[in-house]
Amino acid sequence: MDLQDMGDKISQVLVTGDEIDAKLEEMAQQIDKEYKECEDSLLVVGVLKGAVMVVADLVRKLHTSIDMDWMAVSSYGAGTKSSGVVRILKDLDTDVTGRNILIVEDIIDSGLTLKWLKENLITRGAKSVKIATILRKPEALKVDIEVDFLGFDIPNEFVVGYGLDYAEKYRHLPFVGILAPHVYGG
Ligand code: 5GP
Ligand code: MG
Ligand code: MG
Repeated sequence: MDLQDMGDKISQVLVTGDEIDAKLEEMAQQIDKEYKECEDSLLVVGVLKGAVMVVADLVRKLHTSIDMDWMAVSSYGAGTKSSGVVRILKDLDTDVTGRNILIVEDIIDSGLTLKWLKENLITRGAKSVKIATILRKPEALKVDIEVDFLGFDIPNEFVVGYGLDYAEKYRHLPFVGILAPHVYGG
């Protein structure tokens, strides 16, 4: 799929599918190195739904032995801005006690969701919690949050593709692009 298929919906491609693939390869190598000495398998926690693509592509590049689980959280009230009030919509099936956990996210915007999630998993008794995200908007960060494995820093624009949606659309795009403001009335 290329940009032309998207008509006038995407105003700019920020990261191509090939760039994502190469970056995930680097991130996978860093993750393998980080967990090399660990005896127990790593618990990869994907944050639904946006991180589906990242998790699927990243774990296939790992040599580390992993278990995979998913959480769905909601940090948005009525608007399009993070509220910081996080609700668990779907919890893990796995007991996290004593586990090394890698949270995998699509994007860090305000950072509120991940900060909450990390603290939540630590409170539940995880041994360690690290964070991998393919995208981050440094200008939008509202809280201090350490990212252990980072893909790309991008401008403070609303982006879609590679798992990221606008009203459940555009998740399937193999690239990350800026949604043209006229699509959401901006
Ligand atoms: P945060 O709590 O860091 O502000 O927001 C995290 C969540 O908001 C992300 O996991 C993602 O679901 C959503 N989000 C933040 N920025 C964007 C964006 O530019 N595009 C899309 N589609 N979702 C975003
Ligand atoms: Mg997300
Ligand atoms: Mg969304």
